[in-house]
Amino acid sequence: MDPSSELIELTQSLVRISSTNPTLSLNAGAGEVAVARFVSDWLRDRGFEILQVEATEADRLSVLAVRWGKGGDGARSILFNGHLDTVSLSNYQGDGLSGDLKQGRIYGRGSADMKGGLAAAMVAVSRACSSGEVGGQDLRGDVWIAAVSDEEDSSQGSMDVIRYLLSHPASGGAEIKGAIFPEPTQEAIVSTHRGFVWAKVKVEGKSAHGSMHSLGIDSIAEMGSFLHGFRDLCKGLLSDERSNPVLGNASAHAGTIQGGEEPSTYPGSCQVTLERRTLPGEGRETFQDELEGIVARLDTRCQWEVEMGTTRPPLEVKDLGFLRVVQEVSKLHLGEGVLGGQAVFGGSFWTDAALFSSEMGIPSVVLGPSGFGIHEEVEWVDVESMNRISMVYEDLIRNFSS
Ligand SMILES: [Zn+2]
Repeated sequence: MDPSSELIELTQSLVRISSTNPTLSLNAGAGEVAVARFVSDWLRDRGFEILQVEATEADRLSVLAVRWGKGGDGARSILFNGHLDTVSLSNYQGDGLSGDLKQGRIYGRGSADMKGGLAAAMVAVSRACSSGEVGGQDLRGDVWIAAVSDEEDSSQGSMDVIRYLLSHPASGGAEIKGAIFPEPTQEAIVSTHRGFVWAKVKVEGKSAHGSMHSLGIDSIAEMGSFLHGFRDLCKGLLSDERSNPVLGNASAHAGTIQGGEEPSTYPGSCQVTLERRTLPGEGRETFQDELEGIVARLDTRCQWEVEMGTTRPPLEVKDLGFLRVVQEVSKLHLGEGVLGGQAVFGGSFWTDAALFSSEMGIPSVVLGPSGFGIHEEVEWVDVESMNRISMVYEDLIRNFSS
């Protein structure tokens, strides 16, 4: 089959199966089961072994498939990882499941983020692995592909796959030495991005009638003095000269604030949620120390609580060997333009790549096709770009895992 039409048909099929994330938005989502079944059938038909990844939530299926290589000294395996879930259809203008092809673009929710990139990876792995003399795998390294649930919410799918890979080291042949995440980077190679940490800070004052100033302790005003210190922290991060050469500065902001019942009562408690965007080398403890430092400097007689929440690491590729191969192969198909070929960018959004890099030490790079309208009213992926990217992946597999 013409590789281009195979890629178009596959992308359209993926877009037409709703896989809205069921835990992310207020509207009940379709979940990933149907699209995961489609992906595993497609890969099984092309000679891939489907591994039984146990999902933390039974109905949040992820697919992990492999074509084993011949092995041998120095064999290097490669992994592709794309997410199956999308954001909701409710704010999509028109039919978010159409998969329509118009003027070189495929439209629909998830077309760019990221069924187009996933399709490009599926076609690439199947073509790279079917080039053996007897129609089988002639690569030395193994070729892995994961299609995971829940990236848009809490990355449960990638964590399930990582748990599987860490607990089945003997089942693999050669070690996985590089991973590609086909998110829609507009053909840019993203080898680093910031991480994030959430926290909640709570202060207990004392509720009392508004006239009883000797009894009441105003927790909202107390929080005000904390926020004053927090604002200084935020300003300090943005003017810190130790910024990262690619990513720039770390940052922090307040997300929500809650406190008080009515004007006539001293508010008994007040809480804020805060977010810190972290640079490589920073993590949960960094933010916790900063917040506890602010509290320690307050002139206060209240009870304070700093509770750390969801934490996701930054992405950083330390082993540059894989990145170099990605750059060389990309140059051949994408040219050396601003967004193609050699340039290495810092991504603005967080991706699952950071989990594979930090939990498994796999050099992880985000590289995918051009597309627009991510999480917006109309979304599309560019077909020519998907073709180029799929060729990059295919060449990359042959170069890296041969
Ligand atoms: Zn995405």
